[in-house]
Amino acid sequence: EERNEGEYEFLQAVREIFDTIKPVLYDNPVYMKLNILERIVEPDRMISFKVPWVDDEGYVQVNRGFRVQFNNLLGPYKGGLRFHPTVNSSIVKFLGFEQIFKNALTGQSIGGGKGGADFDPKGKSDLEIMRFCRSFMTELSRHIGPNVDVPAGDIGVGEQEIGYLFGQYRKMRNSFEPGVLTGKPIAFGGSLGRKEATGYGTVYFVKEMLEDSNYSFQGAKVVVSGSGNVALYAMEKATELGATVVACSDSSGCIYDENGLDIEFLKQIKEDEKERVQHYTTVYSKAKYVEGCENIWSFPCDIALPCATQNELDMDAAKALVKNNVKAVGEGANMPCTYDAVNYLLENDVLMAPAKAANAGGVAVSALEMAQNNMRTHLTKEEVDARLQQIMKNIYAESIEAAKKYDDSDNLVVGANIASFIKVADAIVAQGV
Ligand code: NDP
Repeated sequence: EERNEGEYEFLQAVREIFDTIKPVLYDNPVYMKLNILERIVEPDRMISFKVPWVDDEGYVQVNRGFRVQFNNLLGPYKGGLRFHPTVNSSIVKFLGFEQIFKNALTGQSIGGGKGGADFDPKGKSDLEIMRFCRSFMTELSRHIGPNVDVPAGDIGVGEQEIGYLFGQYRKMRNSFEPGVLTGKPIAFGGSLGRKEATGYGTVYFVKEMLEDSNYSFQGAKVVVSGSGNVALYAMEKATELGATVVACSDSSGCIYDENGLDIEFLKQIKEDEKERVQHYTTVYSKAKYVEGCENIWSFPCDIALPCATQNELDMDAAKALVKNNVKAVGEGANMPCTYDAVNYLLENDVLMAPAKAANAGGVAVSALEMAQNNMRTHLTKEEVDARLQQIMKNIYAESIEAAKKYDDSDNLVVGANIASFIKVADAIVAQGV
């Protein structure tokens, strides 16, 4: 804690893992002897850099960029870039730390990393975003490469930003290396099905979890927070599986319609028109808009899918959900539930799908994108979706198996942490100091 003073989100993520892996440590004294815990929490390197750029008025603005390369034991460092004003070293490190374990769960050859900048793309012109991305990549390019470190998108970084970042990297290297970034537009090496992968994957994982308890999405009422990349495709897949999605949100507020939201229209206003969710009610007057994104958890539902940001579902929200008899919570976002909220939900027999397992579909398909780039080939959307479904099934099976073996329970929070920790710890042991 002393070494990472003030990095609350990072400490929270570490605590969540360390609290659950004790049985493995007792079982494997070699992990303690080789000091695996201290070695796993210390990143290989943490890079912080200046990002100067010129705004539309001709003024020079300065942001701070980050890249944490946590470890490349299982493959190149891999993890998204987040552009949001709240980005700092703690946020980047918590995300990078989670990413190590998530990537291990996918079963693919990818290590853990993460990055971003405290740049707010909201309200910026297209040209400003391009200038920012160019400046960001000018510095980042010296630290990444298809076999070194492969960034992708996250909050505030979608296909457009990845396109600009890729363009700058290509110019600087005078080399076309599509495998250096994932989440690219299809035209220059993107994978079909990547855009949908995190949201769909979350729903596939929750589906597995529900089936084991004789529940399903069919006929269930679902609340999904956020309305970005992960949220939109979680809503789409949940609806396809027969659920009624009754609410979603953005950082200003939430919309609710007990008869279900029109997901196609939502995609149109968010992806094409870049509107706020409140805009939905101008066409659907029966839908209700409530100011304040935290109010979304007070709408009754059977399944809650937090898909917006970290710590968005706190103890009050967990209590409201339990009071309304929620059956399952599936984390589409990274660490969306606070530590005490997770424990409260588990104590009240709510099925809990933890982020590092439930949202691993995005990075899993990113790894498929890297493989396609290496082989200069393309999978069809159906092939990608079939692979994604199988990967999510495997992650579920491994997590539940670890929970049963080490905790004698169905607790997937424990199971996902243990299953992934063992893979990473064994790689450290095998590769030496
Ligand atoms: P986007 O930028 O596409 O969307 C984020 C959404 O969350 C926006 O609708 C945003 O609203 C909303 N939001 C932000 N803060 C809040 C809040 N406090 N309450 C309610 N809504 C809020 O990001 P992504 O969908 O890509 O990422 C969402 C989460 O999923 C993040 O935690 C990310 O790390 C995680 N994730 C993403 C993956 C991916 O493939 N994209 C992969 C794995 C995890 P507004 O427009 O108002 O800011």
